[in-house]
Amino acid sequence: MTTTVLSYAIDLVAVLLLALGLKGLSKVRSARAANGLAALAMGLAVVGLLLQQQLSPQAWLWIAAGSAFGGLAGLLLAQRVPMTAMPETVALFNGCGGMASLLVAVAVALFQSGGAAAESAGDLVSLISIVISVFVGAITFSGSIVAMGKLQGWIETPGWTQSQLRHGVNISLAAMALVAGVLLIGDPSGLPLWLLVGASTLLGIGVTLPIGGADMPVVISLLNSYSGVAAAAAGFVVGSQLLIVAGAMVGAAGLILTQVMCTAMNRSLVSVLFGGALGATGGGQVGGGGDEAGYTRITSCSSEECAMALETAERVVFVPGYGLAVAQAQHTLRELAKLLEANGAEVSYAIHPVAGRMPGHMNVLLAEADVPYEQLIEMDAINPEFPRTDVVIVLGANDVVNPDAKSDPTSPLFGMPVLEVDQARQVFVVKRSLGAGYAGIRNALFELPQTAMVFGDAKAVLAGLVSELRELGVGRKVAA
Ligand code: NAP
Repeated sequence: MTTTVLSYAIDLVAVLLLALGLKGLSKVRSARAANGLAALAMGLAVVGLLLQQQLSPQAWLWIAAGSAFGGLAGLLLAQRVPMTAMPETVALFNGCGGMASLLVAVAVALFQSGGAAAESAGDLVSLISIVISVFVGAITFSGSIVAMGKLQGWIETPGWTQSQLRHGVNISLAAMALVAGVLLIGDPSGLPLWLLVGASTLLGIGVTLPIGGADMPVVISLLNSYSGVAAAAAGFVVGSQLLIVAGAMVGAAGLILTQVMCTAMNRSLVSVLFGGALGATGGGQVGGGGDEAGYTRITSCSSEECAMALETAERVVFVPGYGLAVAQAQHTLRELAKLLEANGAEVSYAIHPVAGRMPGHMNVLLAEADVPYEQLIEMDAINPEFPRTDVVIVLGANDVVNPDAKSDPTSPLFGMPVLEVDQARQVFVVKRSLGAGYAGIRNALFELPQTAMVFGDAKAVLAGLVSELRELGVGRKVAA
């Protein structure tokens, strides 16, 4: 009795901590602590659940070994994965979540339902939950693994997946899963269970395979939401309120994030999910013309010229993008910013909601270099400030500063909200070439009269700017 009360109390604390953790994640300043709270909540949840069970010593051993192995694998992976591979990592974790819910439901179906048909309303709820958990969990698992493989470049989009035929295949698989689900309610541990597992797994592959790389982070966010739904269903299966609450929170958060990403990329969810059919390109590269031959009026300049403009600038805005993460130039950027601030310039960083490859990518990157949070300004707040900005330095960003998104109705980006850096007095774009960004299209910003390209790796260019400014005496002025 006492153990039960204790375990429920632990569950309650865990739910509260999880809710606080999720809330804290919405602010850069509190995100790190919030992540710790959510991890603590999950740890408590495991302890609470184990207290509720009457486990044999052998079972304790298995659980301890599994937790140690899984925990260590997660720790090593999280420590080693580069920031640019975050979407793949999230996909892998989502897949693991889907698989966990699937396995819980399969285990209950095989060993606890006893093969009997549903006799009471409670049984019926449990059996329907098993069906949902297996169905959504299997789709989440296989879809996430395909998404990860595509982002890593391990899986190509086969040509046949772009034909209309794939809709027929997917609808057949969904129908098969539905029939298996209905049959499972009468016979939980028999053939229908395996039919449901097989059809749902194939459906996850069939739905994700045709979607192109450009839309994959949105799909990963959606799969994250599915993993929450599968976990909530698994919560009904094993009677864990905590799992139901946590799963529902993850499901809702993933759905909101998916919506935010779609809006920021000017894509509808329907066109992402069925984009392969609508665009006949798999939703991958959304346009062409990003090759270097397409440009005719490019002005390039050296680090020295850029440093001279920075030396006299009173207001400087940095625009970080995916290339900054690739170059791992955040610390050198911070060094440059400190130099400019000490020189009397007002420095800020313009954050586009989908700069980089995941929402919040740039915030995390800059937080690593201890950039003050108040200097990170969201797109809506910074856009009106560009006309009074002396110098904008675009660092490895491309699509998120493309003015065609506002002015060219034929552009694939048309309608996507962008950072209006073209309104600033002078713009320097730091990148290695005239190559395209993620959307695969040319960028009208590069040819504007106020724009100069500074070609090179972002870290090398920033280091060059720091030493040029020091040579110009900025460092000495600061010291004095
Ligand atoms: P982007 O459009 O992908 O452009 C990145 C640029 O960085 C490239 O043009 C590349 O040019 C440059 N680059 C790469 N390595 C570099 C290095 N070492 N040094 C300097 N430059 C380097 O990036 P973005 O402006 O951040 O836009 C993000 C894109 O990702 C958007 O299209 C967005 O829709 C998409 N996306 C974002 C999310 C998200 O949640 N954040 C999700 C899905 C999709 P060079 O090769 O010439 O150097």
